[in-house]
This record gives sequence, C-alpha cells and structure tokens, in this order.
Amino acid sequence: MKQKKVALITGAGRGIGLGIAKALASEGSDIVIADIHEEQAVGPALEELRRLGAATLYCRADVSDRGAREKMLEAVRNRFGRLNILVNNAGVAPKVRADVLEATEESFEWVMKINLQGPYFLTQAVARWMIELKRNDPSFEACIVNISSISATVASPSRGEYCISKAGVSMATQLWAARLGEFGIPVYEIRPGIIRTDMTAAVQAKYDKLIAEGLLVQSRWGLPEDIGRAVAMLARGDLAYSTGQVIMVDGGFSVRRL
Ligand code: NAD
Repeated sequence: MKQKKVALITGAGRGIGLGIAKALASEGSDIVIADIHEEQAVGPALEELRRLGAATLYCRADVSDRGAREKMLEAVRNRFGRLNILVNNAGVAPKVRADVLEATEESFEWVMKINLQGPYFLTQAVARWMIELKRNDPSFEACIVNISSISATVASPSRGEYCISKAGVSMATQLWAARLGEFGIPVYEIRPGIIRTDMTAAVQAKYDKLIAEGLLVQSRWGLPEDIGRAVAMLARGDLAYSTGQVIMVDGGFSVRRL
C-alpha cells in the first residue's frame, strides 16, 4: 500500500492555514499543524482534521524562533519519519498600520522575522531533509508551497514592512525552486488576494465597500478553502512542470481593466 503523504502547514490553527490543512486532509494526507497557540485552542481544528481521516500532530512553535523550528522538525521525524509537503503559511500583518514615513524599525524586524526569515530557514532545514528522503527513495514525492500575498507587488504605504516581506517570499520561492530542481522538489508561490480571516477582520468594512464598488472581477471575498484547493492541486502534482511559478488566487484583482 502506498504510504500517506505528510504535510506540515505553519500557522494552521485557523484561517487560510486551516483551510489548507482541511483540503490536504480530504485528499488523504496526514497533517502537522504548527502555530503559536496552546494546543487546547486548536483542539477543535485537530478533531475536524481527524474526522477527515488524517493522523494529526500539533507543534506549538514560533516560526521565527530557530530552536522552536528545530524542535518541531524533530517531533515530525519522531512521529512520522518523513515530510512530503511543507506549506509556509504563518504570517502576520503589522500590529499597527503606520505610514512608511512613520513606521518603526521594531515593527519592520518583527514582521520580517515571521513572514520571511523564519520561513526561509525552515525551508532550508526541510529541504535538506527532503533531499535525504529522496536519496533514500527516488520515488519519494515532495514539494514546498509558500503563501505570499498580492502585497508582493501591490504597494500599500500604510504597511510597507508587510509588502516587503511578501516580495521577499516571492524571491525566496524562486531561489528555492532553482536550487531544488535537480532533486525533483518543486517550489511554488500562491498569492492570495483579499481573504476572509481574522487577519482581515479589522478592515472588513473597508474591503466590503471596495468589493461592492467593483475592485475584484469576481465580486466576493476569497475564502480559506479557495487557497486550500489551490494547494491541494499543487500537492497532488497537477502542476509538476511549473516549479517556481506564482499561482494567483485573487478573484481577478490583478486583471488590469479600463
Ligand atoms: P490569520 O491571522 O487568520 O492566521 C495566521 C495564523 O498564523 C494564526 O493562527 C497565527 O497564530 C499563526 N502565526 C502567527 N505568527 C506565527 C508564528 N510566529 N509562528 C507560527 N504561527 C504563527 O491570517 P490568515 O489570513 O489566515 O493568513 C495566513 C497567511 O496568508 C499569512 O501569511 C498572510 O500574510 C497570508 N495572506 C492573507 C491574506 C488575507 O486576506 N487574509 C491575503 C494574502 C495573504
């Protein structure tokens, strides 16, 4: 019998990450969730994943903390002995939306460590492990998916540090795709548009208005399952010959219109 795939999704205690976890569990993967909440807080999410047929592991880990990342991968090794899919999803918006003329270095560092530096070095550690797994078994399937944002290319001067972190994730995707090609490990970037989660709850009225006024070609909020379906497609290997590419999941936000 073919072994089930194991997927590690960071920041999957809620929101887009949980949407991705559910989609991958529905396709038959076992799921490792990494998040900063106490395990109790993600209990219902883990239960839901188990009902979908997944074996689950919860790692309470801050992706910006090197020691926590190492402990997390050790836990995955001990429990499953392998990792087929890494989804770098955990991310934060600045605690305060501040104009680039005013924003602080502290906020810049905080956002960059979580959104860019942590995932970059998590990818490094996971990639080394995936290479080893591939060497031991050439039929071992692996892939890496980064969740960036339309903010990788759309300038919002009230959250410059977020935009820069996501532009960095975009380059990181290309770097890792270029480096891991020879090992048969594709690396993709999914660029979500405006998705209804806790992250956007504070600006819901603003986006409700913009969407009603025609900002998007598809006139609705994006949902975590929209991103989940896209990741499931990549994890299945449906875009096996497209490493390094960006998949837009933005309701047509990026379509230029006149
Ligand atoms: P969310 O705030 O609802 O969920 C993010 C999750 O990440 C939370 O469970 C949080 O606890 C976890 N997290 C935060 N910091 C962490 C850390 N240091 N280590 C581990 N986990 C951590 O946000 P979301 O909307 O689900 O966002 C998920 C990803 O999608 C983020 O990278 C975000 O930038 C990106 N994104 C979101 C939108 C949107 O409109 N919501 C759009 C584009 C991109």
